[in-house]
Amino acid sequence: MSAVDRNPLPITDLLDWSDRDKSLLLSVLTGLLMLGFLGWLLFTLRYTGFGEQFLSLEGAALARDIFLFNVMGWLLLACWGIALHKRKRHSVAYPNVCIHFFGFSFLGVGYVMGLYNPIMGLVLVGSPLTGFILFDFKRVTCSLVLHTVMVLAIYALIVQGKLQYAPLLKADPVTKDMVSVYWVNSMIAFSVPFLTMVFGFTYVLLRRWQIRENQIRDLAVTDPLTGLSNRRALFDQFSYELARSRRSGSSVSVCVMDLDHFKQINDRYGHGAGDRVLERVAEILKGSLRETDRVGRIGGEEFMVLMPETDLNGAALVVERCRKGIEAQRIALSDVSISVTASFGVACVRGDEVLSEEQIFCQADKALYHAKERGRNRVEFWHGDTEQRFREAGAGIA
Ligand code: GH3
Ligand code: MG
Ligand code: MG
Repeated sequence: MSAVDRNPLPITDLLDWSDRDKSLLLSVLTGLLMLGFLGWLLFTLRYTGFGEQFLSLEGAALARDIFLFNVMGWLLLACWGIALHKRKRHSVAYPNVCIHFFGFSFLGVGYVMGLYNPIMGLVLVGSPLTGFILFDFKRVTCSLVLHTVMVLAIYALIVQGKLQYAPLLKADPVTKDMVSVYWVNSMIAFSVPFLTMVFGFTYVLLRRWQIRENQIRDLAVTDPLTGLSNRRALFDQFSYELARSRRSGSSVSVCVMDLDHFKQINDRYGHGAGDRVLERVAEILKGSLRETDRVGRIGGEEFMVLMPETDLNGAALVVERCRKGIEAQRIALSDVSISVTASFGVACVRGDEVLSEEQIFCQADKALYHAKERGRNRVEFWHGDTEQRFREAGAGIA
């Protein structure tokens, strides 16, 4: 697994679940919520004085039937989801039924407890949010529109006196002189599981965005084969180090490295073996550098090392260590082990010199050309007369 594939939080995979499995999760959670409502009602009627004072007997029976209907509905839906899951089958109808039943079951709760109630407010805001996180926009919007129309229809019937408002309640437990702490606490207790569910799904969504963003940022600056910095990241770092060296007056050294006769490795052992060599060389380079140095892969079999606060002598030590490390390593391929060598070109810029990254890179590249020309597996440095030697060699590069 490469550095950029890692997902530190597997829970965010939930959003990649199939619609069937997400619907199953929704069925279990909402079923438990409805069971909580039913439990609250039965407890209130049997064990508290609140029932007698505020609940109507017929309303309580209606509410019990509605809550029970919801619990049974979600139980059946959960069984349907489990059966589909076990048989590894999918059904277009299953998520649709779950989404619509979600709206319908809360409509029932809202009707008996009063639509103008904190729970209904939360449901109206939280349900579309949860729906949009879990399912596609069209289906959720369709259900939302349908149930909003039904809410309005219930309001209209209440206004016309054809339906009773909040049939469960005999009197309003929050109006003046009749305020009930039990009711307020009940509303809070109802809200907590629902809000937890909404926050949970929102957290998962936001966390996944964050992880994806980090992965994209990593991808933009990482070479996928070796996990080293890519050209873009290295040049960004290069310009930062150059600016720093101009301020502090220290030197920055740059080394460009190219594997020798790499094409032959590909030709003889295959492209996969060539990739294995590149990975191993990247590890050797990383192991040979100091903490402050930065290495990256800038092209096919070309690497670049950035050495901040390092003059030519310091760079010579570091780069020679890299060269020897590569030369000494036997790289195991599927049935043989081979050794490779590399050529290096180094350039150094002092803090008082004004040169661009491209100019310094070009100097190191010309030094590399000399290393190749002089027999490979060696380190060459850019000096004032390198340009002259370069022209004499007829390289034809300005
Ligand atoms: P020299 O010593 O002059 O550098 O010779 P060379 O064979 O290394 O140089 P050349 O530029 O001719 O060949 C580079 C080869 O690198 C050619 C290309 O097939 C190979 N290459 C480039 N990128 C990759 C890669 O990602 N994986 C593998 N396996 N090979 C690559
Ligand atoms: Mg090469
Ligand atoms: Mg090359």
